[in-house]
Order: sequence, then C-alpha cells, then structure tokens
Amino acid sequence: MTARLIDGKAIAAQVREEIRRTVEERRAAGFRAPALATVLIGEDAASQVYVRNKRRACAAAGIKSIHHDLSAETSEQELLTLIDACNRDRAIDGILVQLPLPDHINSLKVIQKIDPGKDVDGFHPLTFGMLALRSPRLRPCTAVGIIRMLERIGVNPKGKHCVVLGASNLVGRPLALELLMAGATVTVCHRFTTHLEEHVRQAEILASAVGKPGLVPGAWIRPGAVVLDVGITRMSDGTLRGDVEFEQARERASWIAPVPGGVGPMTVAMLLQNTLDATIHNTSQAAQREEH
Ligand code: NAD
Repeated sequence: MTARLIDGKAIAAQVREEIRRTVEERRAAGFRAPALATVLIGEDAASQVYVRNKRRACAAAGIKSIHHDLSAETSEQELLTLIDACNRDRAIDGILVQLPLPDHINSLKVIQKIDPGKDVDGFHPLTFGMLALRSPRLRPCTAVGIIRMLERIGVNPKGKHCVVLGASNLVGRPLALELLMAGATVTVCHRFTTHLEEHVRQAEILASAVGKPGLVPGAWIRPGAVVLDVGITRMSDGTLRGDVEFEQARERASWIAPVPGGVGPMTVAMLLQNTLDATIHNTSQAAQREEH
C-alpha cells in the first residue's frame, strides 16, 4: 500500500480562503476587520519566521495585525502591562504572544494574563479547562488543525485507537483532549514511556509531536494507519524533517501528512480561524451590551 498524502498546505489554503470570504462579507455588512495583536520578544530566528508568517497570513485574510516587536530585555511587568492594554482595547479581538519567551519571563503568568475571550492560541488555563470539560470555544491551534485535517480527508477518530507521541502543553496534551472529545481511545506517550514500539504498532491514527527525526521507523506503522507527523526539525543541510521515517511509513500507511506541508500550515490557518471566531463572539457581546 502506498499512502495518500494529506496535503496540509492545500487544506489550509481552503480554510484561509473561507475565512477571507467571511471577513469580506462581514465588512460588507458594516463590521470592522478582525484585529490580532502579535507580540514578539527578542531575536529568536525561528520565532521571527513564525510571527512573520502569521502576520502575512492575517493580511491575506483581511485580518488586521497590530505588531509589537519588543527587545529581549523587556521585563515581565512591561509585557503584562502591554497585555492588559490589549485586553482592554475593544478594537483588538485576539492576542498572540509568540512562545518561547526569554527565561526571565514566566510564560504561565503571561498566558494567564490574556483575556480568555482573546486567547487565540488557546493556552489560557480557562481555555484549556473548557477543552478538558468538552465545551471548548477557542481551541489550541495545532491540535484543532489536526482534527480539521482528519475531517477533510473523511477520517473519523471515533472508536479508533489514536496514539499521540509527545505530551507537551503546546501540542501533545491538547491533541489528546481533542481526540478524546472526538470519541477516540487515546494513548499518550512521552519521554518516560517504555516500549514505544508496542504502542506505535497499535495506532490506527498516529500523531507524533516530539521533534526527534527518525524516532518512528516506518516498519512500526500499523498497515492502513493514518500518520500525522507534527515534529519539525531543521537539519544541518537546512531541510526540515519530521519524527517519522517518511518513505518507509508511506508504504504501510493509508494516509500520511508530510513534513513540511502537512500539519504546519494548518496551525496558522487555525490561528486565523480563532481570531475570526473571537471577533464574532466579541461583536455579539458588544451588541448585547448596547441593548442593555
Ligand atoms: P516539547 O519539547 O515541548 O515536547 C516534546 C514532547 O516529546 C515531550 O512531551 C516529551 O516527553 C516527548 N518525548 C521526548 N522524547 C520522547 C521519546 N523518545 N518518545 C516519546 N516522547 C518523547 O515540544 P513541542 O513544543 O510539543 O513540539 C514538538 C514538535 O512539534 C517539535 O518538533 C516542534 O517543532 C513541532 N511543532 C510543530 C507545530 C506545527 O504546527 N506543525 C507546532 C508546534 C510544535
């Protein structure tokens, strides 16, 4: 069997086009453009690329992004004050603070400061808690991006054995919660997991979010499995590699998301989706306030 490719780039382009059209329709109906405040601290090259891509994607979808590029010396208090101002600003619908933050800033404190209604990354404890309680509103971008990819290829996780490699707050944990909510039986593996191969071999849907190229040999893939490689590692020759041995896995899987061009583009598309969702929610709340 040679797996079909899950073209995340094409799916993300479709989602982004749908968002662009909705924004256009809203503007024609008299609403302002959705607005996202993006905060980048320091000079980390990867973070700069990620934020630039997010800002470009916003512009292409008709979403206004308000840039805050701060020096690596910015204090925690200065950042908290900025977030406070963005929280209070009714013309801002979403707030994105690019992670990781410099060591002298407590990330959890910063994430907790963001108004949950503007938490487009989906990492605020309230947002996370609502997902755990199966009543999500804004949803962590990479995890929900994977769910959207599965929907688009017509694969329903309900009743399937899904194995998630990686248990980080950013990807593995929210993905496990999303898959549970979708009715899957979920196994989560992490750095202390023993017998990784045994778990991987059982996966009808395998999602790997570790960041170790070659962690999953193709021979471990259960025949017919759906493989979603989230890992991204830049190799010394400049190429990007996922966690799964792609060519070998492709011969056993039914569907496989490549790196690059798989899950990555979906993360950005879901950020735009969350910004639009936050805008629609904020607009209806503002309308309700005016009625009273
Ligand atoms: P992280 O370092 O925070 O977490 C890695 C996880 O992998 C941890 O839970 C750790 O316990 C686990 N792990 C380590 N060694 C393992 C092993 N041998 N077997 C099983 N699990 C093991 O990383 P992260 O922020 O979650 O990102 C993971 C990867 O996903 C990275 O490559 C990152 O670049 C990528 N990523 C991609 C996207 C995207 O949009 N495609 C988004 C975020 C992160």
